[in-house]
Amino acid sequence: MNSRSKSGPVPLAELLKREGIKGERVRERDKCELVYGEWAQSKKGEDFTFIKLDCERIPDDPLSNFSVFAIFDGHNGSMAAVYAKDNLLSNILSAIPSNLTRDEWLSALPRALVSGFVKTDKDFQREGLISGSTVTFVIVDGNVITVGSVGDSRAVLEAEGSIYYLSADHRLEENEEEVERVTASGGEVGRLNVVGSTQVGPLRCWPGGLCLSRSIGDSDVGEFIVPVPHVKQVKLSSTGGRLIICSDGVWDVLSSEMAFNFSRALTPEAAATKIVKEAVQVKGLRDDTTCIVVDIIPIEKLTPTIPPAPKKQGMGVFKHMFRMKRTCESSSSLHDMDYHEPDVVEEIFEEGSACLARRLHTEYPIRNIFKLFMCAICQTELRPSEGVSVHADASRSGELRPWDGPFLCCECQEKREAMEGKRHHRRHSSSSSD
Ligand SMILES: [Zn+2]
Repeated sequence: MNSRSKSGPVPLAELLKREGIKGERVRERDKCELVYGEWAQSKKGEDFTFIKLDCERIPDDPLSNFSVFAIFDGHNGSMAAVYAKDNLLSNILSAIPSNLTRDEWLSALPRALVSGFVKTDKDFQREGLISGSTVTFVIVDGNVITVGSVGDSRAVLEAEGSIYYLSADHRLEENEEEVERVTASGGEVGRLNVVGSTQVGPLRCWPGGLCLSRSIGDSDVGEFIVPVPHVKQVKLSSTGGRLIICSDGVWDVLSSEMAFNFSRALTPEAAATKIVKEAVQVKGLRDDTTCIVVDIIPIEKLTPTIPPAPKKQGMGVFKHMFRMKRTCESSSSLHDMDYHEPDVVEEIFEEGSACLARRLHTEYPIRNIFKLFMCAICQTELRPSEGVSVHADASRSGELRPWDGPFLCCECQEKREAMEGKRHHRRHSSSSSD
């Protein structure tokens, strides 16, 4: 794929730029080796995995490498899952400005995940195809893991003897906040009524009857089923960690603790196989059952100069699952507690709101890097008169604040309002303009 065939003298400016870029590569202490395995047993043929180890933040620079591990669990067909698998990564990457340092790139990722998920959903719906998909999309760059998720597949991390949940559960049954959001946006949430008004099954939203509150696709369900991902970003400590990503075929049967316990001391490949087999053994193969296991091993750990610290036992000891938000003071407050080891998994970012104004309005230090006159979702160039502020509210159109970016093109603005229950979006539009 690389096309580095140029030779001859290199201009000084280019050399300086290359030197500069070298500084943006993964710092030595942040480098990690990845070992992974996957296994699946298929019932409906609607689970898909996507694994790509050779992605590059800087084109043609293998040292700016990052990796992607994702599971797409389709429903009502597999088209949405396949479409998302084929397009999501490039839609995410196209929402990240070029020439960023590694740190800037990592801070841009949460917002780019939102843009990429929404664009993928919008483009898929325009195809006029039915079906929907959950997405659990994991990006590993050195020791930083970023996860964007919609639906009920799950990514969990075990590090230093604790389990960390990196994805959200968008099952209506499990998520009261999402029930409130769907209801406020014009959906109805309830169970199936059988004769005699007995209610059965999990909570679903109507019209459509989907059990999930977020997905990619699902054109035949209300717009309040949104593709806006929950995003979580964490930084591993020097001990690394093991990541398990599975579709609900596994999680309907096994708890996260069980999955890690079953896989202990196994290679990632053997672990993935074991987890799927255990899940299928309990209830039989009732759903597509898919598992990816990734070991993230710091390079320093591979070639230790000092003996490794004894492994902590005691799997039952859970931390507060990142309840503690990182603030300027957090490091000192950590020291205040009798916590002598600052080297733990650190939460960098977490946001799950479905509100685009909140998700796209960046407060990252790179706020000025995003191009002003590009649609923040589909990356289409906007003429100065075209963009609609993401903060604009159709019902108060007299109060537009035209300079409060980021901006959306008319089509994306229409989709945003539809998702928030403010108007009906014409699906399957035949217009090809973007
Ligand atoms: Zn747009």
